[in-house]
Amino acid sequence: MNAPSPETLRRGWCPSTLKPMETGDGWLVRLHPPGARLTPAELRRIAALARQYGNGLIEISARGNMQLRGVTAESHPRLVATLLAERLVDEHDGAGPQRLTLTSPLAGAGIALAAEIEARARDITGLPAKLSVVVDDGGAQSLDAFAGDLRVVGIAPGIAAIGLADRVWLGPVDEGQAGEAVATMLARFAALRAQAPDAIRRLRDLPPGALPTLSDLPAAPAPPERPAPRRAGLFPLGSDGFAALVGLPFGRADAATLDRLATAAEAQGCSKIRLSPWRGIAFRGLAEADAEALLGFAACELGLIVRDDDPRLSVQACAGAPACLRAETAAMADAARLAQEIAPLLAAGLTLHVSGCVKSCAQPGAADLTLVGRAGRYGVVIAGTARDHALAELDLSAILARLQPGQEIHARLPMAGRLAGRRA
Ligand code: SF4
Repeated sequence: MNAPSPETLRRGWCPSTLKPMETGDGWLVRLHPPGARLTPAELRRIAALARQYGNGLIEISARGNMQLRGVTAESHPRLVATLLAERLVDEHDGAGPQRLTLTSPLAGAGIALAAEIEARARDITGLPAKLSVVVDDGGAQSLDAFAGDLRVVGIAPGIAAIGLADRVWLGPVDEGQAGEAVATMLARFAALRAQAPDAIRRLRDLPPGALPTLSDLPAAPAPPERPAPRRAGLFPLGSDGFAALVGLPFGRADAATLDRLATAAEAQGCSKIRLSPWRGIAFRGLAEADAEALLGFAACELGLIVRDDDPRLSVQACAGAPACLRAETAAMADAARLAQEIAPLLAAGLTLHVSGCVKSCAQPGAADLTLVGRAGRYGVVIAGTARDHALAELDLSAILARLQPGQEIHARLPMAGRLAGRRA
């Protein structure tokens, strides 16, 4: 197998198994398990491969993709060959459009619909790599917070509405016909895009009047927004028993942790795993007591996230030092400590991004409070991105180290105090 050409290794690409992305700690290789499903034995095997061919760090992205870090030009061909031979990745991965669909890991009918959309889209040429279709079957977890070019939402049993660029809604459509309806929209979009591929990269780039022409469905009202879902914990799944949804702090775990988690899940009788866009792993088909036991193990033995009010769910952080050679601070370790200290602010809705350098791998977009690593200290950006002007510079590690038990960090971190006041 040939190594990918250097031009594929630039930021802005959607990385895949065959086309890794260069990062500060080596190549990032994204995996799409076949059918978006894994077993505990497969999860253990991927953990072993992460150790053998990468630096042992495994991530779940904010689109529910699995990523191995620290792969090298030498190890990548052998990793890919093993993944393909053992059918741990989708055979289409890297050979066509990226995975289009995003579903809840607890979805029922939505999973089959997403698979149908993926299969139909493979026959359509000219779709941009970053196009995304959110498939929300109206189950336990609303996907309203995730951006998508197309959005299929269950609005009644067996009935869906389809949103285009979150501007135009069409329907109703029988869920059995929704896959075909989406494929028609994608094919018409690809045909329009062929006229100006550089100008039309997403559905939102079309003039509003063009959106309804992508389908023959009638206009429909936008479905009402649903409450924000729980992102971790115990979930009933009807006839499929219960799910234990475990979050990875900052979307990342080492191979040993995932190996132990998969082993524990298997011991509790789990055979079905799905990845969560809330950067976690759902273990499905468990008896209630077994799911609770698995959550207890994940929290107490592995330090993973099993409650929706865990402050780490509200923080984005990259690996930082020592994992990343470009890091100027220990971003992840500092973020974990800071998340505990400002848990009330995070619970009130503050968004925090801690980046080991200006490259901003964990979150390109804005956050309420962004800390950017600079030679061991942090630049402080309020309501901006890591590339925006820093209002101040902090020696955060020293501040955290000097905190006395019970002392409020706000007293030592004026920016956090100002944000707290703004939200009160
Ligand atoms: S943002 Fe973080 S992971 Fe990315 S290069 Fe900088 S330190 Fe490394």
